[in-house]
Amino acid sequence: MPRSVITICPYCGVGCGIEVTIDDAGRIIGFEGFKGHPVSHGHLCGKGASSIKLLDTTDRLLYPMKRVNGEFVRVSWSEAISEIVHKMKEIKEKYGPEALAFYGGCRNTLEEVYLFQKLARALGTNNVDSCARLCHDPSAKALKDMLGYGGSANSVNEIPKAKVVVITGESITDSHPVLSQYLIEAKRNGTKIVVIDPRTTATAKMADLHLKPIPSTEVYLFNAVANYLINNELIDRDFIVNRTENFEEYVKVVSKYSIDDAEKITGVPRDLILKFAQLIATKPVLFTWGLGMSESSGVDGIKSYIALALLTGNMGIEGGGVIVYRGQTNVQGSGDFLKPDVFPGGLPINEENAKKLAEVWGFMPPTKPGLSLIDAVYNENSGIRGMYLMGFNIVASLPNRRRVEEFLSNLDLLVVQDIAMSETAEFAHYVLPAALWIEREGSVLSLDRLVKWRHKVRDPPGEARPDYEIIFELANAFGLKGFSNDPKAVFNEMRQVVPIMRSVTLEDVMDPTKDSRIPENTPHLYSERFLTPSGKARFFGVEYRPVNTGGKKFILVTGRSVLRYNTDNEIRRISGKFETSITINPEDAKALGIRNGQLVKLVSNCGEGTFRALISNDVPRGVVFAYMHDSRINYVVCTEFDPYVKTPRYKVTPVDILPV
Ligand code: SF4
Repeated sequence: MPRSVITICPYCGVGCGIEVTIDDAGRIIGFEGFKGHPVSHGHLCGKGASSIKLLDTTDRLLYPMKRVNGEFVRVSWSEAISEIVHKMKEIKEKYGPEALAFYGGCRNTLEEVYLFQKLARALGTNNVDSCARLCHDPSAKALKDMLGYGGSANSVNEIPKAKVVVITGESITDSHPVLSQYLIEAKRNGTKIVVIDPRTTATAKMADLHLKPIPSTEVYLFNAVANYLINNELIDRDFIVNRTENFEEYVKVVSKYSIDDAEKITGVPRDLILKFAQLIATKPVLFTWGLGMSESSGVDGIKSYIALALLTGNMGIEGGGVIVYRGQTNVQGSGDFLKPDVFPGGLPINEENAKKLAEVWGFMPPTKPGLSLIDAVYNENSGIRGMYLMGFNIVASLPNRRRVEEFLSNLDLLVVQDIAMSETAEFAHYVLPAALWIEREGSVLSLDRLVKWRHKVRDPPGEARPDYEIIFELANAFGLKGFSNDPKAVFNEMRQVVPIMRSVTLEDVMDPTKDSRIPENTPHLYSERFLTPSGKARFFGVEYRPVNTGGKKFILVTGRSVLRYNTDNEIRRISGKFETSITINPEDAKALGIRNGQLVKLVSNCGEGTFRALISNDVPRGVVFAYMHDSRINYVVCTEFDPYVKTPRYKVTPVDILPV
């Protein structure tokens, strides 16, 4: 008798539900969107639909391997685990526990990232981090500082209920395609769509108003709009007085920013800026954003943007608030649970919290904050000698790729746990075969705080194993007690030690139709109070800081393609050749004497690369666009980091373009 298993798409942060039908022999005979899912309602995009094809790829990792004389040779699990543990103990003895680092992916489940950080802390280090460091940590910090929780305030279901939806630095149609259904419905309802993006993306083509600021000038734009709203009394004074703090300090900063200067600095015509300001002076308005914000103007840009929601009283109401479009299924979860400067769930690292954790964990976690991935790799004195990477392809995703390759080449121990060989695994001493998303189970936290269980559909091939089982084996080999390899038991342990998890139960999360959200089980947070210590939202006045182009003529911006996924370590295995061109504006191409399809060299301050030029009006003059999935671009992207959270500024690399 065929049976259905409801699981979750492995790719973006929308976390669409998938219904898989299996026959008596365990073969998959059906794969479609699950109609009962509270967000995706049966929809799947091309990326999600293609995920089934990955099950048949022939180059999965099937057994553990170790490097011997430059070649990978097969070893047994027990040999791999005991040798890794032996080498980690050696490093710990020689250099101390802080010479070890554990960095994980954002498609691991909540249980896996929780166990991963617990193992690191049991070994005496807070050197834990995730790939959220590379994308939305600026969003998490800005949201936490201003509102109290580092995630979206509203659910995506509310998009059609807004009068205005502002989409900044994001192409929904490329990056989170299933959400296009909500945009179409919103347009049908008369919602005005505003897109703020230097590129003319497919999403921008749906907009009623499209502003194209010069990359990284958003702080100027939003401060000038704020000043205009305040001067023209287009703000919600009651909301500001009763529900916010630090408004006067904020006004002192934004009062210096004028619409006229904003036109000069951002390149957006004055009348369009005014139109934007007038459009958002209403309720309900959703202010939403993607990597075009977090990887360009970072924490400051996002704070200046969220301030517009507070000024207009758009918070705590249906269809009014903030949504951050996150790129991976569990990036919100990995960002919340795997951080070097806080314990899981954002608990501050201090003696008091360490003691509380020790009551459950049976060991005292260290109380000195650890090193972020960025500090570990780029600080030559980081002292890291052994690194464990779980589902994280850092060679293909970090900037200044040469530096990353050099760093990994000099480690005493590099363990890579993944589903297939990757650019990073090539540098490993040990490669451990992990189960694919559909071959293991656990919960994932979506971009709008929905926690849902990803049910297991089939067993992993060969000797591949779920990440949680591998961590469990490692913990056992270290002689550690209190680790479970049952994801349901781990979920309940998380609820015990992580306060933000207590708004949902395992039963809620395992019910695929149930709307189960954290840190409060509600579609929109902050109706009554903010989650800040004072219960009020906090304004931050932030100043615009221009990019130092160092005399380079262009700004390189990276972004997504609708059918590819991140470092492309998966979809390239099933869909063959990928167009790796970069996009240049026709007038710039003419001035440089570049023809469509010609090879050009991008030269930055840290590296260079040769790419094929695609000439298109979709990018403005002075901007060159490249796909993030072609990881060669990270030889060109340099190590410019957000000053607060060190997220690389992938969207603002000054470059020159040279015809080849
Ligand atoms: Fe998967 Fe995202 Fe597409 Fe949904 S929108 S099917 S979660 S890639």
